Amino acid sequence: MTCRGLMQRLNDGEKVIVAEGYIFNFEKRCYVQAGPFVPTVVLEHPDLVKQSHEEFVRAGSDVVQAFTASSYRYLITLFNKKKQYIWALGTLYYGHREKLKLIDRSADLETLNRTALRIARECATDTGTLMAGDICNTNTYNPANPSNREKLEAIFKEQVEWAIEEGADFIVAETFGILDEALIALDVIKRYGKGNFHAFKYKPELPFYDFLLKENDNVSWMFLLTGVPAVTTIAVHNNLKDGVECTVDEVEVTEAMKRIESAGADVVGLNCARGPDTMLPLMEKIKKSGVKAHLAALPVTYRTTEKEPSFMNLTDPKTGKLAFPINLDCALCPRDDIFEFGRRCDELGINYVGLCCGNSPHYTRTLAESFGRKPPGSKFSPEMSLHCIFGTDEKVDKYLTTDAVENVLGRKNQSED
Ligand SMILES: [Zn+2]
Repeated sequence: MTCRGLMQRLNDGEKVIVAEGYIFNFEKRCYVQAGPFVPTVVLEHPDLVKQSHEEFVRAGSDVVQAFTASSYRYLITLFNKKKQYIWALGTLYYGHREKLKLIDRSADLETLNRTALRIARECATDTGTLMAGDICNTNTYNPANPSNREKLEAIFKEQVEWAIEEGADFIVAETFGILDEALIALDVIKRYGKGNFHAFKYKPELPFYDFLLKENDNVSWMFLLTGVPAVTTIAVHNNLKDGVECTVDEVEVTEAMKRIESAGADVVGLNCARGPDTMLPLMEKIKKSGVKAHLAALPVTYRTTEKEPSFMNLTDPKTGKLAFPINLDCALCPRDDIFEFGRRCDELGINYVGLCCGNSPHYTRTLAESFGRKPPGSKFSPEMSLHCIFGTDEKVDKYLTTDAVENVLGRKNQSED
């Protein structure tokens, strides 16, 4: 099954729905340990990982993001019939090492990455969705230590190269609290995220065919080296500088977005840390600040507040204790919050939309439905007219009398008080 590329969809104004949050999801299913949060489930139960990808696609995700196209950056090289070089044109338009060390499984690094990528590739190909390779915050970066930068680049480089070799359609660099680390990740994607090498005689559906090839009989072969699109999103925690939200390295959020954009990201935005209620005001600010790249918003599915803007700040209202990570259930978003989040993204023109930690297929389905979509999982979307108590459909057996319904809901007792 073939599918349209990420940039083609976004440039056409389509929404791209992205399910993230696999780590938290597998923790809840008892296959990942809270604390280190390393996805060893990829090696231990690859079948479950594949199933999980399929469930999110069935719920409406357009992207299979490895657990770990029309407007590409082009490098076009034309050769004439004698195979002589005519000209080249560049850039026409557009579970890492440290984590495994933590649990003494460094030897499994490449196998884990490649297995995760292959599972994702297989699922994306089977379902006609896009496959994204993934790199993320390393928690080792110290901007004050320049030698650290080389180590960081090496971590990202190997992951980007594996993702490309395993057929990623684009690469996501995500959850960076430190802007500088996000920029290093993006730079590595741009340098090593070369797509496939294509060779073909002519291909009239390519956007540049008309002005490059149609009139030029001299051209017999064309070679195209695509650079995969880069999505870069940062996590805005609870850092304020002069009362304004900023990154851990103290760059104001809209300024951070502009720097990522000028460094060449195709999609920029925020993921993780904040729930819909504390991410959307920042997205509005970013939108107003004049960032031209496609915007991404992928909040956690928890009810963060102005006082507790990140899910790492949230406290359990009953005990007053920090809820992160294992008691966050007390702050889970209801599905209506997710629907409203989708609606607001639509109003703001944010087209790369998804959900991060806390996500489950039912939330992804709600998000898809907020854009008027009916993914296969909508077959089982709620139909309360058929409920035994609340149902209004004439097919519902009225074995419960009005009195009995009131007893179940407690209205009768309340009215007597
Ligand atoms: Zn997250």
